[in-house]
Amino acid sequence: MAIRVGILGYGNLGRGVECAVRHNPDMELKAVFTRRDPAGLQILTEGAKVLSAEDAPSMKDEIDVLILCGGSATDLPVQTPQMAEYFNVIDSFDTHANIPQHFDAVDRAARAGGHIGIISVGWDPGMFSLNRLYASAVLPGGRDYTFWGRGVSQGHSDAIRRIHGVKDARQYTIPVEEALTAVRSGSCPELTTRQKHTRECFVVAEEGADLKAIETAIVTMPNYFADYDTTVHFISEEELLRDHAGIPHGGFVIRTGKTGWEDENSHVIEYSLKLDSNPEFTASVIAAYARAAYRLSKEGQTGCRTVFDIAPSYLSAQEGEELRKHLL
Ligand code: NDP
Repeated sequence: MAIRVGILGYGNLGRGVECAVRHNPDMELKAVFTRRDPAGLQILTEGAKVLSAEDAPSMKDEIDVLILCGGSATDLPVQTPQMAEYFNVIDSFDTHANIPQHFDAVDRAARAGGHIGIISVGWDPGMFSLNRLYASAVLPGGRDYTFWGRGVSQGHSDAIRRIHGVKDARQYTIPVEEALTAVRSGSCPELTTRQKHTRECFVVAEEGADLKAIETAIVTMPNYFADYDTTVHFISEEELLRDHAGIPHGGFVIRTGKTGWEDENSHVIEYSLKLDSNPEFTASVIAAYARAAYRLSKEGQTGCRTVFDIAPSYLSAQEGEELRKHLL
């Protein structure tokens, strides 16, 4: 029987999960839950229900894993523990500083409900975290570097939109090529924020707005732009829609370290992602972890986990015997 999946929250990530389920023949989408009017939501999967988020608990016996696709800022801290009482749950919570509290809340709820929760699944946190862990365990004396981009930062794009005279905006984070080269050489460079990433902004201004004032407001904005070399391009609304409608992202996790009695040999471990669609890729990672949640739950396990706690074979659609044939 296919793993029966539910989606709570139908934004970019929710739509991505719907596509990911379609790409995994051992999964089936049963229902999408939304806080908006379900009648106004058009989903793509034939046969799946669209219901109000309030009605989710009534589907608890028809769904094996509920995937929470709300925002990290205010949705997931409430929704994931709430739903862990009724379902095995997965989320992509990415407010790094609050992960320990979120873990505790989901752990308590999941244990009480007899379910599994896997939190902070995606690429960062997620695949990047996993690759940092593998690399640091293998090269304990080494050094980690993470570069993000080229990709759209939703938070930085929003910060620009709040400036007076700005109609719309898209911000790209871009790794500095020289910094990447220096890190890959194994020289363990000390890099400042400015040396690692640049920021490029595409801005649609309101009719008659003061472009110079907008540019100054962007490049001097504390926390967001002041510590970076930032370029601002003013473009038309048509150009923004035509050239910047996608949500690409990606980046590099690199660790360099030494081995040998006298540290005579250097090693570079690199994991990189180039993603046309950040939410669709994040959703694909989540789908693999949904399979793991299902299997752990079938074993009778309960409580919260992160990507660090899940053995790789639990992610694969293939069984252990089949996987062992392909170790080489
Ligand atoms: P969205 O803003 O597209 O969606 C968030 C929620 O907003 C939806 O679930 C939806 O809930 C609600 N919503 C309200 N109005 C609308 C509307 N008009 N259109 C669409 N949605 C609406 O966020 P994303 O899906 O892009 O991202 C969700 C979270 O995923 C982010 O907050 C981030 O934390 C996380 N993420 C994690 C990554 C990782 O690597 N770990 C990578 C990328 C994202 P409802 O249907 O109930 O109204």
